[in-house]
Amino acid sequence: MSDRRKQEALNAPLDPRSPLVLDTRELGRRPGALKEFSRTVPASADLGIEVIGVPQGSPMELDLRLESVMEGVLVTGTARARLKGECVRCLEPLEQECEADFQEMFSYPDADDRSRFADTGDDAEDEETFRLEGDLLDLEPVLRDAVVLSLPLQPVCQEDCPGLCPRCGARLADDPGHDHNEAVDIRWAALEGLAGSMRDGEKDEDNEPRTAGDDPQEK
Ligand SMILES: [Zn+2]
Ligand SMILES: [Zn+2]
Repeated sequence: MSDRRKQEALNAPLDPRSPLVLDTRELGRRPGALKEFSRTVPASADLGIEVIGVPQGSPMELDLRLESVMEGVLVTGTARARLKGECVRCLEPLEQECEADFQEMFSYPDADDRSRFADTGDDAEDEETFRLEGDLLDLEPVLRDAVVLSLPLQPVCQEDCPGLCPRCGARLADDPGHDHNEAVDIRWAALEGLAGSMRDGEKDEDNEPRTAGDDPQEK
């Protein structure tokens, strides 16, 4: 659990110095007022799934747009970061860019959004609502959801990654000609040799008199 989430859990006030706590004071609750800016923040914890994610502390670029509306502040943004993970087929480490768009409404602390959601149906109760704390809003949960949802569930090092050899575990992309024909040949040769000697043995036992007799004629 990150420090921020512990804070949320304890209902501690937001820390305005945190890079993901945004101050909306300049908007002055004037509907239509707009503030656009970019900032780079260190990635928080939990921005990933088992196979891929944004390493904690790595830089995330945020383009943000805060727009004052009647009931609160609408936050629209894009996050860009570098993902680290591993290919699900060949288990090779991989890195790729991630871009996640998000938009979330943060209601004023005193706004009654029960009336706002009243006519949107039964699903409204499941909807997570975000609120400003004073002039501050916490972007962290919104960002986390957006980034995690944007992650590839089955990241691959290359679209056509052939994966691993099911017999020896070799990474097939490193060795396009990889196969086990040699081993197969050797085993077949051994089997054929065995079969051959058995046939010879049978011949020797069953046909020895005839073979011995025929040989001179064939040659
Ligand atoms: Zn791969
Ligand atoms: Zn192999």
